[in-house]
Amino acid sequence: MIQYSLGIYLHTPFCVKKCSYCDFYSITDRRLIGPYVDALKREIQRAECLGQVDTVYWGGGTPSMLPAATVAEVMDVLAARFEILPDAEISLEANPGTVDLAYLKELKRIGVNRLNLGVQSFNDQDLSFLGRIHNAEEAVKAIDLARQAGFENLGIDLIYGLPGQTPLDLEHQIGAAAALAVEHISCYLLTLEPATPLARLVAQGTVALPDETQASQLMVAMAELLAAAGYHRYEISNFAREERYICRHNRRYWTMAPYLGFGPAAHSFVPPRRYWNLSSVSDYIEAVTDGSGPVAGSETLTREQRILEAVYLDLRLIEGIDLTAFESVFQVTVQDLFGPHWAGLLAENILEINNGWLRLTEKGLLLADAVPLYLDI
Ligand code: SF4
Repeated sequence: MIQYSLGIYLHTPFCVKKCSYCDFYSITDRRLIGPYVDALKREIQRAECLGQVDTVYWGGGTPSMLPAATVAEVMDVLAARFEILPDAEISLEANPGTVDLAYLKELKRIGVNRLNLGVQSFNDQDLSFLGRIHNAEEAVKAIDLARQAGFENLGIDLIYGLPGQTPLDLEHQIGAAAALAVEHISCYLLTLEPATPLARLVAQGTVALPDETQASQLMVAMAELLAAAGYHRYEISNFAREERYICRHNRRYWTMAPYLGFGPAAHSFVPPRRYWNLSSVSDYIEAVTDGSGPVAGSETLTREQRILEAVYLDLRLIEGIDLTAFESVFQVTVQDLFGPHWAGLLAENILEINNGWLRLTEKGLLLADAVPLYLDI
C-alpha cells in the first residue's frame, strides 16, 4: 500500500449563530455536539492508516465551540490511529467570541500550535453587518489572549469588499492587523452566496456590493497594503510574515497533496480519488453509528480533471507552475494546453515565465478564475 505524507481535516459543523454571508454547512443546535464527537472518534478509529500525518486542521463551523478536553480526546484518538509527526502543524479555527485565556492555554498545552482567528474586520459596523458574534474590541482581545497563552503562530481572517468600502477603509483594517503583528492573514473578498440573508438583501436592493471594477481596486489595494506592512503574498488571498508561517495544511489543497477529512461534509483526497461525507450532522451520526459509513459520494479524477485543477490551483499560488515538473507528471506542456491563447496571455502581461515557472502577473491575478478557461482540454 502506498504510504503518503498526509493532512487531516476535522470538520466541526456547529456555530453559535449563522453569519449573514455564510453558506458553509453548520448548525446551531448544540445538543448534537456529544453524539457528533462520538461519531467523529469512531470514524477516525475505522480509517485506513495511509501514512504519516504532518498537518492537522480543525475547521468549521466553529471548532472553538468544542471544549478543550474534547479537542484533546479527539487528538488522542487520532494519535492512536495515525503517526502524527513531531513537528506537525496543528491548526484550529477559533471565533474571537468563543475564547478565553484558560481555554487558549489548554489548547496550546494539548498540542495545537497554530491558531486561526475569524476576526473578519476591526470595525464594529462591519462586524454587525456580517452578523458576527464578536466586536472589534473582542477581536483584539482574543489576539492578545492567544499571545498570552503562548501562540507564536497566529493567523486571522479578514473580509474585504463590504458595501461602500474604500481603499482607505481597507488601510485601517490592514493597519490594525499589522499593528498586532499576526503571523498570517487570509484576506477574502466578500462573495455573494445564494440563499444567504446577504443575498436576499442584495436581491431586494437594500444593499449593494462593490462592482467588478471596485472589487479589483480593493484587491490591488489590499495586496499593496499587506506588502507594505511586511506580509508576503503566497496565494491569491493568503499572506504570511515569513515563509515558515505559510499554512502548510491549506497549501496541501493548492498542490493537490493527499488529505483525509473527518466529520460531516468533510472532503478527502487520495489521488486520484476524491470523496466526501454526508453533510447533515444527524445523517452523519447515524451512518457512522450503524456502520454503513458516512461517505456520501466520490469521484475518480480523470487526467483532464487533474490537469485542469492543477493549472487552476497552481496559478493561485504566487510561485505558479513548475513547467518541467508539470510536463513530467502530465506528459504535456502548459504551452500546448493553452494552444492558440498562449502567446496572447504572455503578450498581454497576464502570464509571465520566470526561471522555468509560469505565474500570473499582478494584472493576471485579477483574472485568476478566467485564465484556466483558455485551456484546450
Ligand atoms: S462562524 Fe464561520 S462557519 Fe459559522 S456561520 Fe459564521 S462564517 Fe459561517
